[in-house]
Amino acid sequence: MSAGLVQAAYIVAAVLFIMSLAGLSKQETARAGNYYGITGMTIALIATIFSPDSSGLAWIIVAMVIGGGIGIHYAKKVEMTEMPELVAILHSFVGLAAVLVGYNSYLDHGIILDQALLNIHLVEVFLGVFIGGVTFTGSIVAFCKLRGIISSSPLSIPHKHKWNLAAIIASLFLMMIFVNAEGSMFALMVMTLIAFAFGYHLVASIGGADMPVVVSMLNSYSGWAAAAAGFMLANDLLIVTGALVGSSGAILSYIMCKAMNRSFISVIAGGFGQEVVISSDTDYGEHRETNAEDVAEMLKNSKSVIITPGYGMAVAQAQYPVHEITEKLRAQGVEVRFGIHPVAGRLPGHMNVLLAEAKVPYDIVLEMDELNDDFAQTDTVLVIGANDTVNPAALEDPNSPIAGMPVLEVWHAQNVIVFKRSMNTGYAGVQNPLFFKENTQMLFGDAKESVDAISKAL
Ligand code: NDP
Repeated sequence: MSAGLVQAAYIVAAVLFIMSLAGLSKQETARAGNYYGITGMTIALIATIFSPDSSGLAWIIVAMVIGGGIGIHYAKKVEMTEMPELVAILHSFVGLAAVLVGYNSYLDHGIILDQALLNIHLVEVFLGVFIGGVTFTGSIVAFCKLRGIISSSPLSIPHKHKWNLAAIIASLFLMMIFVNAEGSMFALMVMTLIAFAFGYHLVASIGGADMPVVVSMLNSYSGWAAAAAGFMLANDLLIVTGALVGSSGAILSYIMCKAMNRSFISVIAGGFGQEVVISSDTDYGEHRETNAEDVAEMLKNSKSVIITPGYGMAVAQAQYPVHEITEKLRAQGVEVRFGIHPVAGRLPGHMNVLLAEAKVPYDIVLEMDELNDDFAQTDTVLVIGANDTVNPAALEDPNSPIAGMPVLEVWHAQNVIVFKRSMNTGYAGVQNPLFFKENTQMLFGDAKESVDAISKAL
């Protein structure tokens, strides 16, 4: 393939990636967005493999078969609830790849005669390895937190922000040594170790409820790591793609921070400025229990119903029977709508994906802001496997770890039914006073079984 054709293919691929991002921003066009992305990536791979700069085709194919085989195996096997973990571990691979590309292009950069170009190259290598190192260990910590291997509560070592600052200053100092010495392996290796520790500490310092922002921040970091690798490999498409992923990840993080009323800077700086408050053991009184038949009766007598799903719906895979009862109620003239909190579940858009999978019509699935004022005029709210996202403590208790986070104000409705298996807390580990309110009743059990039983009774 000629160099000109490769460049042309790269431009087509870049346009397809932009169309893919645009498509993924709406549920109706998300499927098309995925196809644009797949097509763009196929074109990009073919153009890169057959470009005049590539050699060792057999090695590339062997690597692709092994990598692709592992990827297909895991993507097929992964449960929807494990998706965020898969995303986190994949980000760690991008980070590690950037580190390896950095070392490779440091050891084997050919002969660069121009001093200015050599300096630029060394800075590229240094920054690429730094960003890659932070992304690598940060993503592994995110993976462990999401999988529950390590606690989701924030790590709080004394003077943690000073440590972060020291890591950045030391890395800048090492960069000066690295460039002045025209490439010092020692400086590069010490910085790599600092970047690994920095990435670990940055994500470990972030508490449970802020994890959604971390996942999208790591998405952004992985984009910048890929862009850095693009500079080192002088590959324009990798630079463009990395920048697209990096900036869209940063925008998503910003949107999520706004939705959660968190300071963007404080979250990306590893929980900077946050006081860690241990939730108090307040006695909220007794909770009331109900059963599927009574809930079915209540629903039949309601004019308006709002369903607020959360992570538990994903665990139970209750979206299909939820769709079933939605249709039964709508057939009986009951208005049914869904209220989606921006960080419900474990992945941005998690609930929307599940509901779309079960073929719930898009027009009855509303964002939190679109229906938060409607709860007061609602007869019944079904809280299906949601906990933190419907916790009134976020608004009422300034000492709560989730204080200030906007939530679905379900307690204003006439009746609230909470579907869960026990009185356990949600992801943020905070007790939920909603469960003890007078208009709340608990329906204990697996959400799918409970909704199935209601469907039968309807
Ligand atoms: P939560 O994680 O707060 O609560 C989920 C609830 O579901 C639990 O209380 C659990 O209670 C219940 N549950 C679990 N399994 C079942 C089951 N099989 N049947 C019935 N109930 C079940 O969920 P939310 O969606 O309200 O909140 C999301 C949380 O996750 C937020 O804190 C958010 O910050 C965080 N997060 C979100 C991410 C995102 O991008 N959306 C990423 C990372 C974290 P029990 O065990 O008693 O059944």
